Amino acid sequence: MTFDDSFTLTIAGEAVISSSQVDVINPATGKVFATAPAADAALLDRAVAAARNVFPQWRDTPLEDRRQALLMLADAIEGKAGEFGALFTREQGRPLALATREIIAGATWLRAVARQDVAIDVVEDSAARRVEVHHVPLGVVAAIVPWNFPFLLTIWKIAPALLTGNTVVLKPSPYTPLCALKLGELASTILPGGVLNVLSGDDSLGPLMSLHPGFAKISFTGSTATGKRVMEAAAKDLKRITLELGGNDAAIVLPDADPEAVADAMFAGAFFNSAQVCIATKRLYVHSDIYEAVRDKLHERLLAGVVGDGAIAGVTHGPVQNLAQYHRVNKLIDDAQAAGLTLLRGSAVPKGEGYFIPLTLVDNPPEDAAVVCEEAFGPVLPIMRFTDIDDVIVRANDSEYGLAGSIWSKDIDQAVAIAKRLDTGSIWINQNRQVAPHVPFSGFKQSGFGVENGREGMLEFTQTKSIYIPK
Ligand code: NAD
Repeated sequence: MTFDDSFTLTIAGEAVISSSQVDVINPATGKVFATAPAADAALLDRAVAAARNVFPQWRDTPLEDRRQALLMLADAIEGKAGEFGALFTREQGRPLALATREIIAGATWLRAVARQDVAIDVVEDSAARRVEVHHVPLGVVAAIVPWNFPFLLTIWKIAPALLTGNTVVLKPSPYTPLCALKLGELASTILPGGVLNVLSGDDSLGPLMSLHPGFAKISFTGSTATGKRVMEAAAKDLKRITLELGGNDAAIVLPDADPEAVADAMFAGAFFNSAQVCIATKRLYVHSDIYEAVRDKLHERLLAGVVGDGAIAGVTHGPVQNLAQYHRVNKLIDDAQAAGLTLLRGSAVPKGEGYFIPLTLVDNPPEDAAVVCEEAFGPVLPIMRFTDIDDVIVRANDSEYGLAGSIWSKDIDQAVAIAKRLDTGSIWINQNRQVAPHVPFSGFKQSGFGVENGREGMLEFTQTKSIYIPK
């Protein structure tokens, strides 16, 4: 089963068409395979008005009923996981089984958030008074999402926003709008009209949203450069913001780590989704004692990987998602080669118009190489030697980013001690890429502003209201 090829905006629970369209390209072919509506300022106004109109009703709907509606939506998503997965592969490029897994993960995540509570905190209960802290919704939330995890990151935003009683205007990336549009269609059969509006658009829509006075909050995931623009625009009327931005995560592999296990984990973690993951390892530091072993075993796995069209069985890694990214990542690789660095490349990639890049390691580049200092966000990973722990911690922290990182060692106490010295919002020991609905996710430095997930993330969709009740 596949979805039909018509894509509409969802505004006030209605399917809405627009006068202009954006082309959607399959990155495995480089060809346009669908068009999505391009919402303009007038349609944005309509969506915001719809969300504002229904806000009091949704806010005052008992939490239990909002919860049930979200659980129904989760079931509906899961019921269409196959259709969503196939569409995801075509617009995003990821191999079908992994694309479908993101849809199911989205449904599971939505359920987990829907089951959370937004409890009232009693901060004083004395003879004289009781003081309650309520967490009330903000109003209309703009949810702005990138192309690398177009479904799960959508759920990260809409689930807590809707559960806490906000209404939402969701904007997917112009590169990957289609699953979000189908989600809007599906949600309009379950949620009251206007509670979740979905607008696709061209590059003008995001800036229009961050400036729109009708939003109380912008929940944004994307690049650090765009995040700064969102913050600037939001300052105009002091909109609340949550920014989940870029990362340049370091993994530190200590001499007692098992090279096989590290190679497996890096292949699965650093190269997942063709390395287009904010929390992928992007700088791999390996102790000199096991440097060659880890490098060579990881290279073997790169050679066994199959890069190709994600719709074809057996493909492990799809294309990079868009042409700009294809050129950017290829330039990083070409520059590394031109600088005389050694590249260890994975298996050959299909010829043709698809945006395929061989999985690539760069052997021990200097710290100031672009491939080390910049967020590659594509399948090229620098692997660097270290001998001194203090020195490698300084190198790992020497970044404008601070999203996540990992430490690999049999000595858990030592790994925890190192974890405490790394300036990142998440840090994993002997694992990577772990996130969970109940665990706060945030970035240090220019990796973000605010928190997603966990109670902290949920509360970012609320305003605290302290009520003093005399006895
Ligand atoms: P991007 O910043 O180009 O775009 C993200 C979204 O913002 C898109 O929907 C885009 O249309 C919209 N947008 C563009 N200009 C805007 C503006 N002025 N105001 C409001 N919205 C605007 O990012 P991308 O290339 O789609 O995604 C890749 C980046 O996202 C990487 O840097 C990656 O690390 C980061 N990312 C971060 C996380 C995280 O949780 N920290 C997760 C995934 C991706």
